[in-house]
Amino acid sequence: MSYCVNCGVELDKDAARCPLCQTPVVNPVCPVDTTIPPNFPVERREVEPVNRREAAVLLSAVYGVVSLCCVVLNLLFWWRGMPWSAIVAGACAMLWVWTVLPLLLRSVHSIFLVGLDLLAVAGFLWVISMAVDGGSWLGRLALPIWWGCSVVLLFLWYILPLRSILSRCMLVLGSCVVLMLWLELCIDLFLGGYQPMWSLVVAVVGVTLMAPLLIIRYRPDLRREVRRRFHF
Ligand SMILES: [Zn+2]
Repeated sequence: MSYCVNCGVELDKDAARCPLCQTPVVNPVCPVDTTIPPNFPVERREVEPVNRREAAVLLSAVYGVVSLCCVVLNLLFWWRGMPWSAIVAGACAMLWVWTVLPLLLRSVHSIFLVGLDLLAVAGFLWVISMAVDGGSWLGRLALPIWWGCSVVLLFLWYILPLRSILSRCMLVLGSCVVLMLWLELCIDLFLGGYQPMWSLVVAVVGVTLMAPLLIIRYRPDLRREVRRRFHF
């Protein structure tokens, strides 16, 4: 048994150099045994990444089979007055857009993919409304809410990476306030009369939280102090 003369680590019989400090092993009593296989692999190998195209094919097959089975079951056994398999197929189509398209479209900007995801949600809402009751609530409730959420999400998706942490907090809070006001407006108009209540409470809380952030954002001394204390 040999030990490294430089760092003292115990050496294997096949080690021609110390694995830690690379000092050559010279031991006339116990020469390096070159006949036994090395303890460590000589070549560096890497695990191959998952092939995106094959993952896309696999996911598409899963969604397709689930949709097809549900359509067959719906038509042959469990109709009960409603094409429920359309909802399952719609959900699968939406999931396909969410999960498979990012695998196939690698070079496009992420905001384009988010836009497609939102369109898929709109399509799914349309399918649900058609399957349930012919779409009476789609145009007056679901789509206006969808519009509001989409605009806010796309705005935040585009603007957030360009801003500092304080500005991000303010933008998210402001967007939540606007979205809640829009949500109550849509719901109240659908039910037949706009009387703002809970969204105003959210708005007051949001504005109360935004005011100190705004002051900190535009006072350099305060900003430095906050950064120092919260480590960002
Ligand atoms: Zn050594």
